[in-house]
Amino acid sequence: MTKELRPLVAGNWKMHGRMASIAEVDFLKDQLARHDGVRCDVMICPPAPYIAAMAHATRGSRILVGGQDCSERPDGAHTGDISAPMLADAGCEAVIVGHSERRTDHGETDDLVRLKAEAAHFAGLTAIICVGETQEQHDDGTTHDVLERQLTGSVPEGAEAMNTVIAYEPVWAIGSGCTPTVEEVAAAHALMRGLLIERFGAEGKGMRLLYGGSVKPANAAELMAVENVDGALVGGASLKGPDFWGIIEAYLG
Ligand code: PEP
Repeated sequence: MTKELRPLVAGNWKMHGRMASIAEVDFLKDQLARHDGVRCDVMICPPAPYIAAMAHATRGSRILVGGQDCSERPDGAHTGDISAPMLADAGCEAVIVGHSERRTDHGETDDLVRLKAEAAHFAGLTAIICVGETQEQHDDGTTHDVLERQLTGSVPEGAEAMNTVIAYEPVWAIGSGCTPTVEEVAAAHALMRGLLIERFGAEGKGMRLLYGGSVKPANAAELMAVENVDGALVGGASLKGPDFWGIIEAYLG
């Protein structure tokens, strides 16, 4: 599979695991050291309390570390919040913003997601900005309207290819075992690519577009082969080293 952009396979551990789970990366480190032909970047986004330990455990390997959310502010009296500069300081290269679970559980709006992405950029982090339609919107046929609205509202002015990744995650596909058809994924990603080029020109052409939602070793190669799919955001299947490796293998040279 030849792709113009270097793909990214990022694992989102959500609120799963304990300190001992960090040992899952040993398997990945081992596999990555044995296969120089892996043609993608690999990232793990553990729960915040484990970021520093994950950064330590992955030092010197090809595994990057990311956060799952950040505050839109850099510092201050905001109990429980974690800022983008703190994530960078703890060893993160990137942070997920606007995941549908944050949009639903915490009422995050496109405006807030955009501010968080700006905060990430300001701290030198890559913002992995999530968008995606609900089951109802999918059934109504309004997926493309939703994606256009979320992309317009959530991606900040001045976003660049090197600091911005978009993850298309249909809400109904997350953790459900269901995925859109490859035609639906292709259409969504083509729409997003067009909108990003219209707004950001060459920078939009260079932004990586991940697909997320029930990606597993069994369907990874098919999904990753779709045009304009530049990698995956993976939830459940990123928790165990061998499962995550089974997805990364889609990019084995
Ligand atoms: C996610 O929540 O980002 C996700 C893609 O989850 P899963 O792979 O478990 O569907």
